[in-house]
Amino acid sequence: MKTRAAVAVAPETDLEIQELNLDEPRPDELRVKMIASGVCHTDAIIRDQWYPVPQPVVLGHEGAGIVQEVGSAVSGFEVGDKVVIGPSFCSACKQCLSGHPMYCEIFYERNFGVQRGDGSTAFSTEDGESVGSHFFGQSSFAEYTNVPAHGAVKVPEDAPLELLGPLGCGIMTGSGAVLNVLKPKPGSSIIIFGTGAVGMAGMLAAKAAGASTIIMVDIVPERLEFARELGATHTVNSKETDPVEAVKEITGGGAEYALDTTGVPQVFSQMTKSLGVRGHGALVGAAKLGTEAPFDIGTLLVSGITITLVIEGDAVPKEFIPRLIALHQDGRFPFDRLTKTYPFAEINRAFADSAAGTTLKPIITF
Ligand code: NAD
Ligand code: ZN
Repeated sequence: MKTRAAVAVAPETDLEIQELNLDEPRPDELRVKMIASGVCHTDAIIRDQWYPVPQPVVLGHEGAGIVQEVGSAVSGFEVGDKVVIGPSFCSACKQCLSGHPMYCEIFYERNFGVQRGDGSTAFSTEDGESVGSHFFGQSSFAEYTNVPAHGAVKVPEDAPLELLGPLGCGIMTGSGAVLNVLKPKPGSSIIIFGTGAVGMAGMLAAKAAGASTIIMVDIVPERLEFARELGATHTVNSKETDPVEAVKEITGGGAEYALDTTGVPQVFSQMTKSLGVRGHGALVGAAKLGTEAPFDIGTLLVSGITITLVIEGDAVPKEFIPRLIALHQDGRFPFDRLTKTYPFAEINRAFADSAAGTTLKPIITF
């Protein structure tokens, strides 16, 4: 069949909306009619080749849509099911089998390889040139796409698909790092660096978990103001104030938990220093391959802190995404406040607004 899709053709260049051929779904796949897709910072860094993902490629990895066709070997899905699509994993390696599919031993190939295991891609041009597909098991910047069924998460019939796509990556990353990894105790303190969609999702999750001191750090005053509106108890503009000194003063010695969503080496360093004794910090922000961050061994050894590097919130999407939907329905996880929708034709404006910091979580609607 034919489908319109946004194709990444070169670094720092607008995506091109093209009409492509979409092949038949494989026995283990679903064909999904996309209703909406979030735009994540990771789409932008892959378009810009921070990681060497072959182009042309259809990006997009926060898709939500309706099942149109079910592969012959798939069970548990029917035509018409509403789905949110999460990353792809093998289901067979030690990490997958021990409940950590986001650390699947072939996670990189599955999600950044932009082809199936057999080397085929789902998309091709009129001239028969293949176009990368299966980005994060979905390539959701397309009206129709084929996805491995194991990554799809069925959601309730009345679920608002136009809102839910970001639960498959950005929102799952921030909230999962907090709820699945840091697990802040009620009444505890947490400092979060970066108030983008990932940091804000972490903040909403910390609030839902009952943390009572939530310190948000950024360099954009409007974002800090919005963080306060959504529940931050303290904000620090790290261009003006040293966040390490600020957190020590606010918490009387250092935070119990910390989250770095920036991927900036200096911020990682600040995060390690902002923790109190035996505190636990998590890094989710991405950086170019080879980026190193300073860590003060001499001073920090005695602090006994734990640092965890977290992919996709260390979630099991089929278990975690329905929980986030339930929390949202309860009014305890208002991530809809972070989103703004754009028609498919304006996808490059969505990328630009995200980069400029004026939109936290753009969602493309088809
Ligand atoms: P974003 O760009 O919207 O947010 C980043 C925020 O960090 C911005 O508000 C920015 O102003 C702030 N910032 C930048 N430099 C800073 C500094 N020196 N001090 C304080 N704040 C600073 O991005 P996002 O969508 O929230 O994503 C955050 C990061 O998470 C990205 O790097 C993204 O690629 C990554 N990510 C990782 C995973 C994962 O599985 N680990 C998944 C999704 C996204
Ligand atoms: Zn993402």
